Amino acid sequence: MYHVAMKSTRGPLGPSRGKALLSVTMAVLLLSLVVALSPGCGSKNASVPTLDPFKGLDSGLASASGLSSGGFVVDGCLFTTRQGDELEGVLPPVKPQVLSKGNTNVKKVALTIDDGWNADMRILQLLKDSKVKFTAFLIGGRNMVESNPDFVRQIQEAGGEVCSHTWDHYVMRGKDEATVMMEIWKSQGIITDITHRVLPYIRFSGGAYDQPALDWTAREGYWVVNWSASDNDTASGVTVDSQVAALLSGCSNGAILLCHWGGHNTYEVLARAIPEIQKRGFEVTSLSEVMEGTPYVLTEKAYREHNKKK
Ligand SMILES: [Zn+2]
Repeated sequence: MYHVAMKSTRGPLGPSRGKALLSVTMAVLLLSLVVALSPGCGSKNASVPTLDPFKGLDSGLASASGLSSGGFVVDGCLFTTRQGDELEGVLPPVKPQVLSKGNTNVKKVALTIDDGWNADMRILQLLKDSKVKFTAFLIGGRNMVESNPDFVRQIQEAGGEVCSHTWDHYVMRGKDEATVMMEIWKSQGIITDITHRVLPYIRFSGGAYDQPALDWTAREGYWVVNWSASDNDTASGVTVDSQVAALLSGCSNGAILLCHWGGHNTYEVLARAIPEIQKRGFEVTSLSEVMEGTPYVLTEKAYREHNKKK
């Protein structure tokens, strides 16, 4: 099930040495290409259009460049050719942890936008025009990603990164292991089939979980991500003024802001709040950028070591 073919980049001296050097060179070249072309996952330029780094890459080239192990990590993001069941168990296990803040030493806040039903395309246009990076936690099933894969592509093109918000959007309390595993991997699978990326973060419906769900999720390599401030766009009776005020009062170093595609006034709130937050000196950006410099980042070393064992 798992493809482990890392020997090509670590060949012994002798006839295979030339091939090994070639492999390393190609891996570095490919890596540079991916970094240059990818707006998400902590890269620095949100205005560059996203290209699929694996498109047209045949298996021979992938193998020669060391990619046959399934992928590589850049800026805390796994770029992978794996699909479907092959994706399961690919991330190194982490300590069970629920995160509601990123790096508190930097003046950055993460903008996270959840769910995906009733997606308001004005939000996407606003973020694209503002060159603001962000993170979408999308539901795999329930007529979301499964019936609107273009939305995932549009998010990437707008400079956003896409993480899983489970398959069914069930509250993850009292669920058995098989259900939790399905919720994690079915949803990640459908997202990664489109993005070729895996970030080690997941959000559960309502931010709810119990200890078994947290433990199984950590074993699969994910930190559960909640939030430190919300614009309350799922509450009734809110006003744009009160929502903007809620976001602004929640801005501090490493804050994780929550709103929803199709929430009450989400577009109007973000259109006002983003420039205000920026005026206060904070960079509004993606979750992975706000996690930079914390222990909650996927590393190439951990990924390689975990996958070497298989
Ligand atoms: Zn949700």
